Amino acid sequence: MSTADAFDLPAADRWVRGFGAVVHAHRDELTELDSPIGDADHGTNMDRGTTAALEGLDATPPADAAALLKGVAMAMISKVGGTSGPLYGTFFLRMSGALADGSPAAFTAAFRAGVDGVVARGKAEPGDKTMVDALLPAAAALEEQVAADRPLAEALRAAADAAAGGRDATTPMLARRGRASYLGERSVGHQDPGATSAALLVQALATALDGR
Ligand code: ADP
Ligand code: MG
Repeated sequence: MSTADAFDLPAADRWVRGFGAVVHAHRDELTELDSPIGDADHGTNMDRGTTAALEGLDATPPADAAALLKGVAMAMISKVGGTSGPLYGTFFLRMSGALADGSPAAFTAAFRAGVDGVVARGKAEPGDKTMVDALLPAAAALEEQVAADRPLAEALRAAADAAAGGRDATTPMLARRGRASYLGERSVGHQDPGATSAALLVQALATALDGR
């Protein structure tokens, strides 16, 4: 398998198509996770958004990675709905705006800008049992690896592992943001659906760069 050390247009395209495929494959699981602590729509919401994003990609091939991410942002904002649509939309839009070039350092700064956008928009803190609990550890791992000059594919593999760890850590948390927070103590003991889709997002990124 080929590996790439740049987040260029083909890598961005592989990422978004791969994310769409895993969201589709995990649609029912994401919706089931949203059942005890939400309104049982996270999988269908996300699948609707990524399907629209892929249709947009096919209809209007973007000129570069930043344009591709902007198109995905628009699809997520207009099609996902719920709380997670604007948050995923913000993530992709901020990433798009911050992506100076495809170098590991520029990609890392763009990913961080996307995560910071989610935090600024949703006001969730670490430990609130949201997608932020998967995204923040991923950004930190990516930064640490890229600062140590690890190849981007390896750095993203570490980021994906960190996101999965963050996802798992949401289970014992008490929800303080979003619908799950209405349940108070009853939110404890359930894995957060948004952290689960966010872990899939970073996993798809690692796969897009290392071909695994
Ligand atoms: P809705 O809750 O409107 O039905 P979804 O079911 O699509 O939307 O998404 C729910 C997910 O959104 C949660 O599991 C959580 O990860 C995420 N979420 C909710 N509120 C916030 C917030 N303020 N900041 C970050 N993520 C949030
Ligand atoms: Mg929901």
